[in-house]
Amino acid sequence: MKYFPVFFDLDDQPVLIVGGGKVALRKLLLLEAAGARITVVAPAVHPDISDRAGQGSLTLIRREFQPQDLDGRRLVIIATSRRAVNRWIAQIADGRGIPANVVDDREASRFIVPAIIDRDPVTIAVSTGGTSPVLARRLRERLEALVPGRIGELARWLADLRRQALDRLRDSADRRRYFEDLVDGPAARRFMDGDRKGAERIARQQLALGTQAPPPRGEVTLVGAGPGDPELLTLKALRALQDADVVLHDRLVSPAVLELSRRDAVRISVGKEADGPSTPQQRIHELLIEHARAGRRVVRLKGGDPFIFGRGGEELQALAAAGIPFSVIPGISAALGGAAYAGIPLTHREHAHAVSFVTGHAGPEGQEPDWRAFAKAGHTVVFYMGLSKLAHISERLRAHGAPSTRPVALVAQATLPSQRVAQGTLADIAGIAVAANIESPALLIVGDVAALGSVLGWFNPASLEEERHLTA
Ligand code: SAH
Repeated sequence: MKYFPVFFDLDDQPVLIVGGGKVALRKLLLLEAAGARITVVAPAVHPDISDRAGQGSLTLIRREFQPQDLDGRRLVIIATSRRAVNRWIAQIADGRGIPANVVDDREASRFIVPAIIDRDPVTIAVSTGGTSPVLARRLRERLEALVPGRIGELARWLADLRRQALDRLRDSADRRRYFEDLVDGPAARRFMDGDRKGAERIARQQLALGTQAPPPRGEVTLVGAGPGDPELLTLKALRALQDADVVLHDRLVSPAVLELSRRDAVRISVGKEADGPSTPQQRIHELLIEHARAGRRVVRLKGGDPFIFGRGGEELQALAAAGIPFSVIPGISAALGGAAYAGIPLTHREHAHAVSFVTGHAGPEGQEPDWRAFAKAGHTVVFYMGLSKLAHISERLRAHGAPSTRPVALVAQATLPSQRVAQGTLADIAGIAVAANIESPALLIVGDVAALGSVLGWFNPASLEEERHLTA
């Protein structure tokens, strides 16, 4: 580690900025946010700097730097446009024991300024040791996305609670356990979701329980994993995955998504495959309840969206009956992901005013879908789990008045590098699927919009490109 990271209390401390351009202004804004008492020395300055001097929020010395400007300073930032001058000033500062940073000149600097995520009072600083500011900025952007927006408010709330806890929990180990429960448990999650009252209620209950706190209560989060491309996860889903002790996932969930769960989390496949072995639904309910009762944070990870042909509702009913707390994080359903990646707008002012999501399987009592409605023009119908029923679906639609020429598209392994799209009509799609060897999981999109895919399709994974080259 070449640089020792510290957070420096500059509140009301005298700091010097040499230089008055845009670069100096950027550093000035940071120092201002930290409450520093700022002096700028430069013959000419950016208008925002002179405005601040006019309002008396900083001292401006309009001339070239002189060594006595360093007198009494805690810190100096050097940002003139002349490299040799910058280095000369840095040397004087260093000789006098005043930490100096020369902007964009790491070698001449005693300290460097990191890339910062500011969720006051929470601050995250990222440094690559000056090797690559671009890499530091990219890292910061990723962290920005991961760190909840309310983390600063949460920190302030916890500081308030600390005062109350000090009275009631005298032992520091008890206090630590209390705060761990708050931060890891439902209290912090409620707070982050904006439910401050709910969070306070839980915190009060836990404080009242004091040292005889019960074992932590587990909970289940039903998470939509999206259709396959891991970047289609929501930020909330990613956070839940990284918090989970146990992940119960369907086999349809792509390995790339599972990779995002914590390394030490227990992953249990309870997958259903069209013809393969599957875990009975009742057993899934039992597993969810068992792990939650043992105090674990359980993520139930489902392909697409949990409430669309995912039996998410049944699982929540089982949890509700067992008194297990739960929450739901929606996901991008296969119809939305598949339509987007195949360039098929599900509605379109000229072609479709309604869209239905339908399962290709009949209901438990063999209920038939409303074929008449789905056969109508101007209606897009997306069939899930319909690959093995293509001939039946197209026969039923035509029997209820849909023309044989109605455009359809099959989208298989949607959003994954292995995605394939087959276009056709009600009359020929079953044959095309066999000829092209389309494999599940696949969606059937029926309606005039399906034809747009040949013009608007944009997702061309490498494997398909190669195929095209080979056949060309
Ligand atoms: N809850 C899921 C659907 C589960 S039912 C969701 O919202 O997407 C399983 C069916 O979803 C599959 O038979 C297939 O029709 C469809 N499906 C899921 N992932 C898919 C994918 N990547 N590409 C195409 N179809 C997919």
